[in-house]
Amino acid sequence: MERTFIAIKPDGVQRGVMSEIITRFERKGFKLVGIKIMIPSKDFAGKHYHDLKERPFYKGLCNFLSSGPVIAMVWEGEGVIRYGRKLIGATDPQKSEPGTIRGDLAVSVGRNIIHGSDGPETAKDEIALWFKPEELV
Ligand code: ATP
Ligand code: MG
Repeated sequence: MERTFIAIKPDGVQRGVMSEIITRFERKGFKLVGIKIMIPSKDFAGKHYHDLKERPFYKGLCNFLSSGPVIAMVWEGEGVIRYGRKLIGATDPQKSEPGTIRGDLAVSVGRNIIHGSDGPETAKDEIALWFKPEELV
């Protein structure tokens, strides 16, 4: 069954919207198969965002991801990669539709509270980066 990697970033954890985000994925019908809380190192954050290495905001983004606790999760279900991105909304919360997580709960692209894998390959790589196989049910 299809799986995706979802992370609640430090701003989402700090703002107390973790349960609301989990509820939205649960109510849609997706299944939580892995979850943990951790503070990623800057080096680890750099690996997670390696695709964005050339972007001007890369360093700030990595510093931010490692600035506090992150809730790392793996969700499973039919179409969960693409539909998870729909639940999350556009990258910039100013452009995310109301009803999406970022549309309802965030205002700034640098503090958009949640991450979701953008395709089957990145989902596979991100799950392998964040979780050991035995941490998933
Ligand atoms: P994510 O990978 O976090 O799910 P995304 O796939 O919607 O987000 P990406 O293009 O992968 O967007 O960018 C990764 C993250 O980098 C974004 O979630 C955002 O926090 C940050 N980011 C993207 N564009 C900018 C920008 N112009 N300025 C600052 N931060 C940005
Ligand atoms: Mg992305």
